[in-house]
Amino acid sequence: MEIKCHFCFETIPLEIYREEGDKQDFIVDCEVCCHPLHITAEWNDEEEDFDVEVDAG
Ligand SMILES: [Zn+2]
Repeated sequence: MEIKCHFCFETIPLEIYREEGDKQDFIVDCEVCCHPLHITAEWNDEEEDFDVEVDAG
């Protein structure tokens, strides 16, 4: 999956592992500008993928 950085607007790859839970909340640093991004992910049963929201960490 890919997310868009809120600071530099680059697209960066993001791995989310379902074993870690259906609802996750964590911070990742952007690979490009190193700013922290707050990720909220919730498993979507119908799409069998995570719904991901990104905001400024
Ligand atoms: Zn960035």
